[in-house]
Amino acid sequence: MAVEKFTFQAEVSKLLDIVAHSLYSHKEIFLRELISNASDACDRLRYEALTEPKLTEGDTDFRITLAVDKKAKTLTVSDNGIGMDHDDLTGALGTIARSGTQAFVDQLDGASEDKLSMIGQFGVGFYSSFIVAKKVEVLTRKAGGKDAWLWSSDGRGEYTIAEAERDARGTDVIVHLDKKQDEFLDPVRIETVVKQHSDHIGLPVVLKGEGEGEDGGGDRTLNTASALWTREKKSITEDQYKEFYQHVSHSFDQPWMTLHNRVEGVLSYTNLLFVPSTPPFDLFHPDRKPQVKLYVKRVYITGDCEGLLPPYLRFMRGIVDSEDLPLNISREMFQHNPQLAKIKSGLAKRLFAELKKKAEKKPDEYAEFWDNFGAVLKEGIYEEPENRERILALARFKSTTQDGLVSLEDYVGRMKKSQDAIYYISGEDSDALLKSPHLEGFKAKNVEVLLMTDPVDDFWISAVADFDGKPFKSAARAGADLDKIKGGAKDKKKDAAKKDGEKDSAAAIEPLLAQFKVVLGKAVKDVRPSERLTESAVCLVTGEGDMDARLERILKQNRQAGAGDMTPRVLEVNPDHPLIKGLAERARKGDGQDPLIADAAHLLLDQARIVDGEALADPQAFSRRMTAVMESGLKV
Ligand code: ADP
Ligand code: MG
Repeated sequence: MAVEKFTFQAEVSKLLDIVAHSLYSHKEIFLRELISNASDACDRLRYEALTEPKLTEGDTDFRITLAVDKKAKTLTVSDNGIGMDHDDLTGALGTIARSGTQAFVDQLDGASEDKLSMIGQFGVGFYSSFIVAKKVEVLTRKAGGKDAWLWSSDGRGEYTIAEAERDARGTDVIVHLDKKQDEFLDPVRIETVVKQHSDHIGLPVVLKGEGEGEDGGGDRTLNTASALWTREKKSITEDQYKEFYQHVSHSFDQPWMTLHNRVEGVLSYTNLLFVPSTPPFDLFHPDRKPQVKLYVKRVYITGDCEGLLPPYLRFMRGIVDSEDLPLNISREMFQHNPQLAKIKSGLAKRLFAELKKKAEKKPDEYAEFWDNFGAVLKEGIYEEPENRERILALARFKSTTQDGLVSLEDYVGRMKKSQDAIYYISGEDSDALLKSPHLEGFKAKNVEVLLMTDPVDDFWISAVADFDGKPFKSAARAGADLDKIKGGAKDKKKDAAKKDGEKDSAAAIEPLLAQFKVVLGKAVKDVRPSERLTESAVCLVTGEGDMDARLERILKQNRQAGAGDMTPRVLEVNPDHPLIKGLAERARKGDGQDPLIADAAHLLLDQARIVDGEALADPQAFSRRMTAVMESGLKV
């Protein structure tokens, strides 16, 4: 009989290598993974049989069987599920199908710590059997087909496939145990592992009796064999929830939150959903697919049902089991099914309510959640206007005046009487933002500013008019109205005195500003005296009505805004800064053609751009001017 030889995809070899070395301390999980695959295979066949009943003809009694052969030192996991044909085998056992996962395995190189949990996130699945095996064989026959195949490998780079015989549909995974793995031949050990890791499986997991001696005979069902979510909440332990979570999410972390509810009424369904405690590795994968499994009356339908949860809740894991959806619902119908839409909105509201409670009762734990998933949840602010207020209420931000995270409600509660807007500043990281010249005036008046460091912030903020009637205003935008905000009673006199002074110094720099405008031309929208700067000489602000600079940068990077230069911004100049004062004096005395003032204008503009994290359009010109100005400083 012909035996074909294949080489594992490079990523699989790498994965096998990591699996063998880093999962050893949890080696019993291989059994959980094989049982999980057997259960999936039965689920898939049950789904196929909805439209093609003859696939399960003669055997509708789905189960998973474990058999030990002490002589041969094998543990076999069998199922009467969908089975695999030749193509399925080469596609499933020898490659890593999901493209995101492949890229992830590539990255794993070198990253040593925490590999266990990272690997767990995409479920090493079948390959974990090589933690304990010196050889693994898979004997399988696809439902509806006659041919059977034997897949075989020692997990070292190659595998073979040969024609074989199997009486009926389904799969046997025969694990030839390594020398030191005899413990997995022991029925007691097997039972413990199954009870601990696979009790929640909805099918019976049966241990075959050895059929000899006094108590050798008789098959035993090791698990409870009812789907976990169908059981009474009271009867489920935290550990069982955890095991189920790890099973559905393929991960090793703890669930951060568990939502188990039965909804009855016009629409009946059960949800058992989890918020993970660590972010899944593919959280920002562009397809943004929800990862919650849909069941209809206990029958598994699909693992990526787009209509079940909105994309901004894609960090959720778990299952939803509906009583009302038609069993033969086609995957194409998901997006437009009104019942599904109702379930979706119900799930989102339940989650929001639970998050709100947690935020109030355990703010520290909530902060962890927010760090992990806040950036994703915020997508909902602009994607789903009906939940906008709820998400805004859950949102947390860093702020210029508070430690830790603050809510919008907190912020509004602390606003100064004369302040009528929620001020924010957006940029890549909060440390850099805190040093931004845009904040100088706010600091001087002790006005709180929220720091927005997620790229998504620039999107939602341009879509949301206000919170609690207070508009959002960027501190980096013209017309921040700082002068309207009183800096407290004691400052009143000082403020008044300063006002007069401001008028004088503003008038004194008029000729300088006029020259700046001529020199800079189209590179700026305007040049104006600044009210916000106290320490820096200049800063750039976005003109009223123009797109926020950071948003424009992000859009340009993603080619969603026209190529070419950024929209020119307003250069604000600090009239009280010694450098500006000096330049202003020179400008008043000069003839308007002073090359030093021209160089200074360009240098100040470039400098403001650098501070904002922008690249210079012409670094050569910058360096030429910088050299010229430094040189002139040497001439006495
Ligand atoms: P996952 O279960 O996450 O898809 P695995 O590595 O556990 O990843 O399994 C890889 C694939 O091998 C499965 O998706 C399935 O197509 C196939 N497979 C594994 N075990 C079985 C089985 N007992 N019956 C049918 N197909 C199986
Ligand atoms: Mg699996």
